[in-house]
Amino acid sequence: MCGIVGIVDAGGVSFPLYYTLYALQHRGQESAGISTFEGTALYTHKAQGLVAEVFNGETLQKLPGNAGIGHVRYPTARSKVPDNVQPFNFRYRGLNLSIAHDGSLVNTTELREEYERRGQIFCTTADTEIMGSIIADALRTSKSMEDAVLLCMRRLRGSYAAVALLNNTVYAFRDPLGIKPLCIGKIDHGYIVASESVAIDALNGTFIRDVLPGELIRIDENGLSSTQIATANRKAHCIFEYIYFARADSIIDGTLVYDVRRRIGQKLYDVAPVGANTVCPVPDSGIAYAAGYAERSGIPFVEGLMKNRYMGRTFIMPTQQQREWAVRIKLNTVRGNLKDKKVVLVDDSVVRGTTSRRIVNMIREAGAEEIHLRVGSPPIVSPCYLGVDMPTRTELIASGKEIEEVRKSIGATSLAYIPIEDLVEAIGCGEQNLCTGCLTGCYPVEINGERCSRYVVDYMAGTRQSDFSTFKTGKEKI
Ligand code: AMP
Repeated sequence: MCGIVGIVDAGGVSFPLYYTLYALQHRGQESAGISTFEGTALYTHKAQGLVAEVFNGETLQKLPGNAGIGHVRYPTARSKVPDNVQPFNFRYRGLNLSIAHDGSLVNTTELREEYERRGQIFCTTADTEIMGSIIADALRTSKSMEDAVLLCMRRLRGSYAAVALLNNTVYAFRDPLGIKPLCIGKIDHGYIVASESVAIDALNGTFIRDVLPGELIRIDENGLSSTQIATANRKAHCIFEYIYFARADSIIDGTLVYDVRRRIGQKLYDVAPVGANTVCPVPDSGIAYAAGYAERSGIPFVEGLMKNRYMGRTFIMPTQQQREWAVRIKLNTVRGNLKDKKVVLVDDSVVRGTTSRRIVNMIREAGAEEIHLRVGSPPIVSPCYLGVDMPTRTELIASGKEIEEVRKSIGATSLAYIPIEDLVEAIGCGEQNLCTGCLTGCYPVEINGERCSRYVVDYMAGTRQSDFSTFKTGKEKI
């Protein structure tokens, strides 16, 4: 889970990159970074913290040039150390490469060992460094960026949407299954690629289209061009982007996320209706779902919980009492809207169950008579290896438990999840084109010790030799 952006704009890129990272802040709050290129030099500023904490007018003034990339990071498998803050830079004999990545590789250990045997020294534990090393290695032997990305796509297993700055050219590419989102837009004096369309909106740009799975986009002062590096016979878009991760106002792979969530809310009423007085969302992630549930049921949508919008990241407080205060500052009940009411409480997902338990408790304390929890995703039963920060099976409340056990543990009057078929239908691209690993325990790529989805098995049977039937079409002007 990270946010990435690449911009080429004749009017300079540091401020546009800053604003677009702001629009992508929900994708990562742990660190932020920008690299730009001017003349013969690469300029980078990056640090741990929120975008507004990492950058100011002065730091942005020191990032000159008309081409650059940016990153916000949410740490997953790798540790939260400052060394892992992106973008990563590689400099070698006049080559200036900066790279940033959203996603997670599942064959990092093998690749790392192989490259270390060849004498490569790694400075961080991030898989982005491995990706950058493969590209830099290929470029050093005077291959083109197209060849370098082809090599990456042959070698890397896992999810990656990446932006790279090679001197004053921005490149962007997406793994052949399109697990992580990436889209292209036109801005005043150039082009932008970004994880989500809200970044294009932030610059008042025009959305062009999604980057295709396996496609490499090149942006320089002459415009935009594309090379299809790899094709697969299906996609594996991350289902959790639609459930929780992406902003509701983003369009991902052709679908407005708000519409998906609202449709799920409607279906939730169809599959689990309840006679209640109030449909109450868990802010902010449950709002679109609750809107759909209220619309379909005719039960009024009433906010029973208020979120403090000035609450930044919550850090671990040293004492239990401080932790409780922190929770109460973050979320408070609107007692008058809950007292003596039969409440349908709607949220996007239940992961560990800690949040739901706490919220159900708060609503009961506020005097609600019944609390019916409706969840916009099926039970989350398996970890994510492909970029979403999910706990292990033992920490997942629904893993190995019946729904009734989960309901008791959370303390709700009733509990219902959306069935996977309805979720898939609401997204609209077919289960064969989605990664449902966290909901089914079957993954779209081979992962040691885990099951593959039936789609990957079918797919690999035909093209086992090279993993992906790779081909190059040559450059095509978009
Ligand atoms: P919990 O059940 O206590 O783990 O919290 C689940 C809630 O946290 C969900 O309703 C989401 O709004 C949010 N959430 C889900 N997945 C994540 C994640 N990977 N990182 C941060 N928040 C998440």
